[in-house]
Amino acid sequence: MSKDNKKPKNIFDKIFVIIASICVLLAIVIMALVINGKNAENKDLAYTDLIKQISDGNVEKIEMTVGSTTAKVKIKDEEEEKKVILPNTQAFIELIQDKVGEGIEFDLNQKQQSALTRIPEILISFLPTAIMLALFIMIYKMQGLGEKGKVYEETERKTKVTFDDVAGLEEEKEELIEIVDFLKKPEKFNEMGAKIPKGVLLYGKPGTGKTLIAKAIAGEANVPFISMSGSEFIEMFAGLGASRVRKLFEKARKLAPCIVFIDEIDAIGSRRTSNSGAESENNQTLNQLLVEMDGFSTEETIIILAATNRPEMLDKALLRPGRFDRQITVPAPDLRGREEILKIHSKGKKFADNISMKSIAEDTAGFTGAELANILNEATIIATRKEHDKVEQDDIEEAVKKVTVGLEKHSRVISEKDKKLTAYHEAGHAIVSQYLPTQTAVKEVSIIPRGLAGGYTMYKTNEDKFYVSKTEMEEKLIALLGGRAAEKLALDDISTGASNDIEVATQVARDMVTIYGMSDKIGPISLKDTGSLYDLKIFGENIEDAIGEEVRKLINTAYLDAQTILRQNMDKLHEIAKVLLEKEKINEEEFKKFFNIN
Ligand code: ADP
Ligand code: ZN
Repeated sequence: MSKDNKKPKNIFDKIFVIIASICVLLAIVIMALVINGKNAENKDLAYTDLIKQISDGNVEKIEMTVGSTTAKVKIKDEEEEKKVILPNTQAFIELIQDKVGEGIEFDLNQKQQSALTRIPEILISFLPTAIMLALFIMIYKMQGLGEKGKVYEETERKTKVTFDDVAGLEEEKEELIEIVDFLKKPEKFNEMGAKIPKGVLLYGKPGTGKTLIAKAIAGEANVPFISMSGSEFIEMFAGLGASRVRKLFEKARKLAPCIVFIDEIDAIGSRRTSNSGAESENNQTLNQLLVEMDGFSTEETIIILAATNRPEMLDKALLRPGRFDRQITVPAPDLRGREEILKIHSKGKKFADNISMKSIAEDTAGFTGAELANILNEATIIATRKEHDKVEQDDIEEAVKKVTVGLEKHSRVISEKDKKLTAYHEAGHAIVSQYLPTQTAVKEVSIIPRGLAGGYTMYKTNEDKFYVSKTEMEEKLIALLGGRAAEKLALDDISTGASNDIEVATQVARDMVTIYGMSDKIGPISLKDTGSLYDLKIFGENIEDAIGEEVRKLINTAYLDAQTILRQNMDKLHEIAKVLLEKEKINEEEFKKFFNIN
């Protein structure tokens, strides 16, 4: 994700927003108090109850003022007078006048309520209008702020990023070069009657370089780059999203030829389902986007690039011809790609002679470009802190850990009990994976807290591969549950420490069943595209139960398998946990010794 398009806000604008927020808050508080007060009055006596009390002969006295819709009622044997709201004063007066002979004292006050005493009432009646007005002004202002921010962006609109800054992704760049040509010489393409896509959708997980490549297209073609993130639209007031989209395209038309980049488009372009509440707001924004895309012709030379990592969430309407009809997957880099990314980002940094980018690339399978850039940056920071002249191997290893699991927190005070729990938990993961053929070797086990984790077990990375087998996924589940299993067997209790493992395991198991068709019971069916329950039901009424059952079965089996492995290795579990408690960390070689492997 790109973080460089933050809008600077004027200090006065900030103050205004704060003051407006306080006003609205105050208004809401007053309103709440008033409503509360009214409720308290209402509670006194309902009109129907009053009628009943009258016919039961319980009412002693009724007092009311002409023009008012309330009456004061004194019930026999009760201390306080009660207030009653009258639905129809005239009818009530007639009713009471009939009853006066039956012992009810009726006081009809002719005095008009003075205007002075009614001032609060009048003010209160204006309150809702005032609140609405305040809200509108706020929305209007905020919209204005957004615009101001965008104008700022415009001044920086030309990016200097080129394809040379994008490592790897050779095929993707090749596919996108025609867009660059088109932006440079649109007449040539139009004369030939060539159809250039209006919209290109970039699929890929965060940090794979989608924003970078979109900027590079703008840079190569030397055209303005206008961007917007779908997440800006979440929690926006009704109608605002759509108007933002309209303004974005207004600007694009003025600046054409240009690139419009919409990051996280899934936040606006999720499937349109119901027509209520937040979703209908989404729909308005999405509809506006569709209208805008349909509204300009290819002669206008605006190319819209959008990025998402959740393509399955997108509304199908976005993918129709004339909209985002070109889709490009931006994968995490392979070994060569990683090496090239590392080379690009090592420019201007000093490295010890024995460091090869290739070996770092080998150790970082699955890492994205953003993570790799981050690792090199962290490594230089660590090296500087340690007063090394150049970045050394251990600086890089430390940086890899920092980026993957977070920073070591030596200062955090941990109770002995927690340490013991972590030691068994991590030993459990490590031992269990040692016995699983498809899982990679343990690289390090530690009970020093890092990031949010109390401890961690690091594995060596696998060579790049494209497919993951069912056995591998099942064994992954077993390894994930090894921590919880160890807690249970060694300490006869379980803890919250396994929450992340359980979350990941559940996701893996769910994917196995619903995406990869790995459950025998459900069969090789993809349930990925079934956005609603209705879609799902075509596979049978009980499909939900069946999915739940299959996911649970996978997890329970894995949990039992993890326990079985550990039961057969209780001596090792105690031994490794003990060493961890003493030394806090066990490396690859030390770990292997427990299993007599070299
Ligand atoms: P995305 O938009 O896919 O989330 P970004 O384009 O924002 O990812 O990438 C974040 C940063 O990661 C980039 O600014 C760049 O420094 C680095 N990066 C990612 N992919 C690459 C790549 N292929 N080559 C060079 N740097 C990359
Ligand atoms: Zn764990």
